Amino acid sequence: MDLRQPKGFVSYFSKARDYDGVFDFVPRAARPKVGRPAFAIHQHQNFQVGAGSGRLHVINDNGGRLFSFAPAAGFGHDMLIDIDAANAADEKWASANDRRPSPIAANGPTIQCALAAVSETDMLLLGISDYGPGRIADPRTPRGRAALYSLAFMLRRAAAVRLDIQDYELKAGIRSLEHPAALGAVTGQVFLSDTLENGAGYATFLGAPAVMQELLEMISRPTPSQFFDRMNAHAHSSACDTSCPDCLRSYSNLAYHSLLDWRLAIDMAALALDPTAPITLASPAWSRLSALSATTLLSARTGFRQTTIAGLEAIENGTSVKIVTHPLWRTEQANLGPELAAAWDDAQRVRGLRVTEDSFVSVFEALRRPV
Ligand SMILES: [Zn+2]
Repeated sequence: MDLRQPKGFVSYFSKARDYDGVFDFVPRAARPKVGRPAFAIHQHQNFQVGAGSGRLHVINDNGGRLFSFAPAAGFGHDMLIDIDAANAADEKWASANDRRPSPIAANGPTIQCALAAVSETDMLLLGISDYGPGRIADPRTPRGRAALYSLAFMLRRAAAVRLDIQDYELKAGIRSLEHPAALGAVTGQVFLSDTLENGAGYATFLGAPAVMQELLEMISRPTPSQFFDRMNAHAHSSACDTSCPDCLRSYSNLAYHSLLDWRLAIDMAALALDPTAPITLASPAWSRLSALSATTLLSARTGFRQTTIAGLEAIENGTSVKIVTHPLWRTEQANLGPELAAAWDDAQRVRGLRVTEDSFVSVFEALRRPV
């Protein structure tokens, strides 16, 4: 990038509503984003989907540090320079060529911003209408973002199989928006967009409700494509705790690898088709991970022992307890689903253990941040 010619970029101020900078496990590379596209959204099964032409912003926030731009003498009054970067480059060039550096000085106020490469292309947006009682993928939490990104990149992979294209021909990402029905609540959508400027038409095709249903079925149940079966096969399921190149990881989503989880993607796709889909740690896919999570939590603590509470893996020391939960389960006492309501009751009323929201640790956190 030529720092003195920031044409084609617009500034994206740090005050913009963007939850990406707030949490751990957040990728810090250039990230695709979409705004509020004008196309119609259709309700189908338990999802909302829409597709059409929209504006894609690929945002670079300089690893979360933002860029600093200022006007400088000799560069024209409408031009802003990243002065530190320009001086560092000049110094490097001068020392390599045995010249004296000629530092540039700011002659006006500095603007802190990120950069966005903006293009018009085809895109689709997908949201889950109803997660069912006690379940959520909140984009403000790491595990909610993990669920949404996992669905986005799994959809991209299923779409690549469906269209016989390379997955990098589509970009995938998530979008946060205020919940239309609940004041103060935030919900997440996933998007796919054509990588080519002006679009190749892929996302528009994939955003038709019947095609989206087909992709979600490929991901969440056995179909002739064997997409689901390959992920669930013992060889993969027993070896892949979160994500790997065989299921979700590729070079083009390198910045998101720590978030991606194929089990979460399957559960999200199942939910998009049916709000009553079972979201449980007792399934064959999750049970090994649930036990592994409890072992990991135990190894980070002294004086605890492993147990099960209302059928859930847990560790306790006679007073406190940590109960392993599914990443899509809500943990606020007022919004517990049946599994965690039963576990709360068993731990507190029956066993006399101290239970708070912090007693619940999802498999996502247990395997990535066990302490
Ligand atoms: Zn895998």
